[in-house]
Amino acid sequence: MDTLSHAIWGAIFFGRNGKKRYRGYIWAVFFGVLPDALPFTAFMLLLLSGEIGLATSPWELPEVVVSYRVGHSFVTAGAALAAILRFYRALFIPFLAWPLHIVMDIFTHTEDHVPTLFLYPLSDIHLSFVYWREEPLVVVVNYIAIALVIYFLLRIRGFPGRR
Ligand SMILES: [Zn+2]
Repeated sequence: MDTLSHAIWGAIFFGRNGKKRYRGYIWAVFFGVLPDALPFTAFMLLLLSGEIGLATSPWELPEVVVSYRVGHSFVTAGAALAAILRFYRALFIPFLAWPLHIVMDIFTHTEDHVPTLFLYPLSDIHLSFVYWREEPLVVVVNYIAIALVIYFLLRIRGFPGRR
């Protein structure tokens, strides 16, 4: 799914956390976009270093492919979870935006379009249902769902500025 959706769903499900609420949202967005931020950062670093040009397809670059797979793996996320539970338990709830990102991508990428190898590097097992970029309906339904969920949450929790 697109990175903005990951950020929003992460914030919706795992942002509300403790007293300092806004921090929970920032962390949930951070973990929600992290899997996509890794390959993007790798690509930008290669671009800035002058090793590649703008015409290069990111998916031709092993650095991009490997960092994408590392970010979209429950193996990596599990290791990060162990570290968080050991050193910074307060981040546990917002952290869950990361595995949620992986779950969403498992169902919205296909064999031919950056499959989500969710057990990388242990296994290359993956599913192949639909690729979100080629199926506008998936994106439309996704954003309608986001709008509805936000609307109902605001109804339950109260609209900002209203009592
Ligand atoms: Zn992703």
